[in-house]
Amino acid sequence: MASPSYDVLIIGAGLSGLSVARFLRDKRPEISLLVLEKSNLPGGAIRSHSEEGYLAEMGAHGFLDNCLESRVIVHLAGLTAEMEKAPLAKFVRYICLDGTLNSIPQQPAAIIRAPLISWPAKLRILADLWKKPMDGEPSVADWITYRFGRALLPFADAVFTGTYAGDTNQLAIDGVMPGVRALEHDTGSVIRGLWKKRKQARKKGDEKHKGLPAMTSFHAGMGRLAQGLASALEANREIMYGTTARAVEKTDSGWRVQTGRNSFTCRHLVVALPVNQALPLLTDIREAENPPLASVPEARIATVALGFDDTAKIPFGFGFLAPESEQRFALGALFSSHMFPGRAPLGHQLVEALVGGRRHPERLELSDEELIARVYQDLAELMELPGSPSFARVLRPESGIPQLEAGYPGLLSWRRELQGNMEGLHVCGFGWQGIGINDMTKEAWKAAKRILARELAENEEQEVKGVYF
Ligand SMILES: Cc1cc2nc3c(=O)[nH]c(=O)nc-3n(C[C@H](O)[C@H](O)[C@H](O)COP(=O)(O)OP(=O)(O)OC[C@H]3O[C@@H](n4cnc5c(N)ncnc54)[C@H](O)[C@@H]3O)c2cc1C
Repeated sequence: MASPSYDVLIIGAGLSGLSVARFLRDKRPEISLLVLEKSNLPGGAIRSHSEEGYLAEMGAHGFLDNCLESRVIVHLAGLTAEMEKAPLAKFVRYICLDGTLNSIPQQPAAIIRAPLISWPAKLRILADLWKKPMDGEPSVADWITYRFGRALLPFADAVFTGTYAGDTNQLAIDGVMPGVRALEHDTGSVIRGLWKKRKQARKKGDEKHKGLPAMTSFHAGMGRLAQGLASALEANREIMYGTTARAVEKTDSGWRVQTGRNSFTCRHLVVALPVNQALPLLTDIREAENPPLASVPEARIATVALGFDDTAKIPFGFGFLAPESEQRFALGALFSSHMFPGRAPLGHQLVEALVGGRRHPERLELSDEELIARVYQDLAELMELPGSPSFARVLRPESGIPQLEAGYPGLLSWRRELQGNMEGLHVCGFGWQGIGINDMTKEAWKAAKRILARELAENEEQEVKGVYF
């Protein structure tokens, strides 16, 4: 029996795959497409959990609203009216230093003015103006120390704990901040480069510089985004759940994807999977060169959701992060019902603490009871809490967060070459060029744009040929 054939076949119905599908549907509704999804639900790492009037997240808690591609995706999902926003200007973030929570100013200049580091350390930051660009592929910690001095390490640690649950001694600066690294190489100084960029952006009236963005989610949580995106794709015709892509193969006219029972052919194949799930499929392609890494490390976390009544004195804001040097149990916590008030029953508050990460995977071996007790004790040292939480639940996401460490830039070059050499192959997803939601929608749009450009070019060719008939 002939394999069903599509213009575009997408592997993975997480945010990346769904975004590619919706971008394409929006621009070219006539394109035939199919999304294959291993599990029985859309959304991958994005999943919300509601229980007893509390709403917590297994994965992403939100995204900043300063990314055009994500705003388009929300619009295409029909969820503009369901958005909830917590502007960063209003919701303070805290960093735990010497066992107390300190609010962090949101602007770099204000951080430098704040009494969080000594004056000699502040002056040391300015050495960036004279330091030569650092060679090689340094870790975040080595690079920060070289350019700005050791005093900034706890702040960098907090930032990369908050985003990657990562270890700054392992994360590669070229992987996690390629833009900043480019500024260093192009202008010889990060401060000078940022200043120049800001000036240019102001001249152009660039929206990114109009103020601080807002953390964004939906009344029913982030899971709503996946549902909204998937709902426009007809089950069994445009999206197939419970279907795992097991092998991909290049054919004369495009690609063939083997699932357990079936095979599908397509002209464009989008592999929209986390790096470690994409690599086995991609390296099996006969014509592909071997990648420089067989896999990337992943950081796993557990979310410990704790509900308290109004007597809990949780400082108002977004949440806090604890650098490793503080030796605390939780990596940090989100003050979820401050940002999004509907996340706890009336008269109650929700805190979501994060545990584990790249440095402490062993903590995820603890029982739920122990995790709850240890997190409660940790938080109670930082804020005044009632004797016990009124709600407690441990959420253990299956997805790990890809860590962009040594060798990662080489992996990205390999992907670039693979896509360049293999007509009709597009690779995006968790850990390919970033790990956040905004990174995913940007990469999804790039994949969709390549497909659209190719389709348009082919149509134009056909039209020219038509003249001769
Ligand atoms: C704990 C955690 C917290 C996070 N917090 C934030 C946050 O606050 N803000 C933020 O911006 N980002 C956050 N992220 C990152 C964000 O969730 C991801 O960027 C995004 O969800 C990745 O989407 P994806 O579609 O690329 O991958 P996934 O979500 O992993 O989707 C891939 C899909 O492919 C399916 N699949 C896998 N293999 C196959 C196969 N062979 N065949 C068919 N289907 C397959 C999977 O079942 C899955 O549904 C967090 C991630 C995690 C894990």
